[in-house]
Amino acid sequence: MSTTPDAISPQQVAEHIRKTYNPSLLAGKVALVTGGSRGIGRSIAVALGACGARVIVNYAGNAAAAQETVAAIEGVGGQARAVQFDVSNSTQTSDAIKTLEKEFGGFDILVNNAGVSKDNLFIKMKDEEWDANLNTNLKGSFICSRAVTMGMMRKRAGKIINISSVIGLMGNVGQAAYAASKAGLLGLTKSLARELASRNIQVNTICPGYITTDMTSAHGDKLIENVIRQIPMERLGDPVEIARLAVFLASDASNYVTGQTIAVDGGMTMM
Ligand code: NDP
Repeated sequence: MSTTPDAISPQQVAEHIRKTYNPSLLAGKVALVTGGSRGIGRSIAVALGACGARVIVNYAGNAAAAQETVAAIEGVGGQARAVQFDVSNSTQTSDAIKTLEKEFGGFDILVNNAGVSKDNLFIKMKDEEWDANLNTNLKGSFICSRAVTMGMMRKRAGKIINISSVIGLMGNVGQAAYAASKAGLLGLTKSLARELASRNIQVNTICPGYITTDMTSAHGDKLIENVIRQIPMERLGDPVEIARLAVFLASDASNYVTGQTIAVDGGMTMM
């Protein structure tokens, strides 16, 4: 039997979220979730949509998956649109966000979730592997944050949520570049939180532990069994468990929370 159970379906995500949160909690808000086509980003997008936000579901190449996310949001009466751009491409991303801002009147919520992990032992690591991690995970978050910030400053309100990783807190063998990109997000979060605090924009980081997605299923059962031994709760997390915190951080309930790093990891780090 596989040690990695399937993540719950997007339709179930909406049901779970509505057991915890009011369906109109985010009514009137416009959200951008990068990498919303699959995994954690999909769960977050569906959760925000299930709470009444209009959601832009960004993706890199998987249009069909992005459309499934949109359908799950529409299925619970929400509004969403899939939009393709590569977050590591500055011109493409800035142009797309500018166009969306004109149509939707600016963003209230940005979730920098799009990420890749191109792993290798440090002595074997190629420049391209280093660049792939840094360009998508860290530079992509910089590019998207910069693109939405002016609009949020004009509104004097905004929520930016960066998806880092426990690997950014602890480091890991074979993941120097991924860890560096994810640790970089913590510095980006704290600096932005300070710079934008007076404009009522809150910036926080979620550090997921090992969550059931395509990214972790690529690791194989043996590695996952070893990881589970390091998790006090003795299981992987489900994307919806990240989404619950994302909804809190996207809502007015977190208006006095900024610059924070919050791990959702079954007790793995306890820092
Ligand atoms: P998946 O591999 O399941 O999904 C990755 C998502 O990112 C997809 O939607 C993909 O789009 C999108 N994406 C990748 N590159 C780009 C790009 N250049 N521009 C736009 N979108 C892009 O990942 P997870 O859901 O597992 O991870 C999501 C985030 O959570 C990542 O930042 C990851 O580092 C972090 N994380 C994950 C953990 C886990 O255990 N799964 C643990 C800790 C952190 P498309 O579908 O089009 O390819």
